[in-house]
Amino acid sequence: MSFQQKMRGKEASVALRKCQAMQRRADATVSLSDGRRVVNFSDNDFLGLSWNVEVQEAARKAVRDYGSGAGASRLVSGNSPLYDALEQALAEFKGEEASLIFGSGYLANIGVIPALAEAGDLILADKLIHASLVDAIRLSGSDFQRFPHNDTAHLARLLERKRAQYRHCIIVTEGVFSMDGDQAPLQEISHLAEKYDGVLVVDDAHGFGVLGQGKGTLTAQGVSPKAHILQIGTFSKALGSYGGYVCGAAAWCEYLLNFSRSVTYTTALPPATLAAALAGLKVIESHPQDCVQPLNNAAYFCEKMALPAPESPIVPMVIGENEKTLKIAEILQRQGYLVGAIRPPTVPKNTARLRITFSASHSKAQIDGLVAALQAVA
Ligand SMILES: *Cc1c(COP(=O)(O)O)cnc(C)c1O
Repeated sequence: MSFQQKMRGKEASVALRKCQAMQRRADATVSLSDGRRVVNFSDNDFLGLSWNVEVQEAARKAVRDYGSGAGASRLVSGNSPLYDALEQALAEFKGEEASLIFGSGYLANIGVIPALAEAGDLILADKLIHASLVDAIRLSGSDFQRFPHNDTAHLARLLERKRAQYRHCIIVTEGVFSMDGDQAPLQEISHLAEKYDGVLVVDDAHGFGVLGQGKGTLTAQGVSPKAHILQIGTFSKALGSYGGYVCGAAAWCEYLLNFSRSVTYTTALPPATLAAALAGLKVIESHPQDCVQPLNNAAYFCEKMALPAPESPIVPMVIGENEKTLKIAEILQRQGYLVGAIRPPTVPKNTARLRITFSASHSKAQIDGLVAALQAVA
């Protein structure tokens, strides 16, 4: 297929993507290019920390103290003292031995997974894992099998049937699923990983900062740190900054620093980004009770919409067809509400959806307004 044919295919299936210029504002709104202001129910700045005064000031100070860019890889001269400070603070907060910072959550995934598994190893992953994990698994060259979403009985059968034929086995899932907002049954999956001598990798990009008093989905489910569990996450969502991390046993983090190519062959994060993440972490640590506000807002919305109680601040409303989903999102935008219209290949075919995310910054009036607009569309 030619490049033009591929683009026409995207157009025909109403899956063509475009970037819209918009300026985010502090009150959970964005200004569109035509000057209109709409309420933002589409981003992952769950705690509004990208607008927190202490976080912003920490970033400004770091620019003055350390410069605007890192200048080199972490393993050369880019490893500012902020890395140590943030890695230690993060590990302590999560109750883990150590952590290792990457350039983003995407880079953490494509660094960690291929460092853990290669050809001759087995990866078992939930059907609905994030695209960055799929890319990471492909890059690893390992044998890869998916299990139906959150189906631990199926996972157990796969382990029973296949585990003995492989040297290493990695189980990959998410704490909170990014397009569905539900949680993985981590206690059961952890038991299976331990029983079959596997490593469990949990991408908790959306649980960190929001669930378990900010510590994440494992804490929320009462799963304590374990030698066979690695948690991956990001500073780009609830922490309002940028950058990714893995945390777990110190020996794992040391190993991953040596074997993750996405740490070695890329420039270190800008100091301001690290300083902002560290300041965001301190805000969460000192106000753990505020972390639940995004989930409370989602629960308020779901109650009004007669939807099942949410497991995270991400609420999907599955529409099905791409065209209809996009149309509803456009109508909502005209009414003053920005929600994500998520289409394949981000989600499975025929499950295009509105992805509505709730932040601590949303007011009851803003949520009531969205409810009214949605009820009018229906
Ligand atoms: C957002 C997300 C990522 C990517 O994190 P970035 O820091 O934005 O690169 C990875 N995994 C999951 C599950 C995510 O939701």
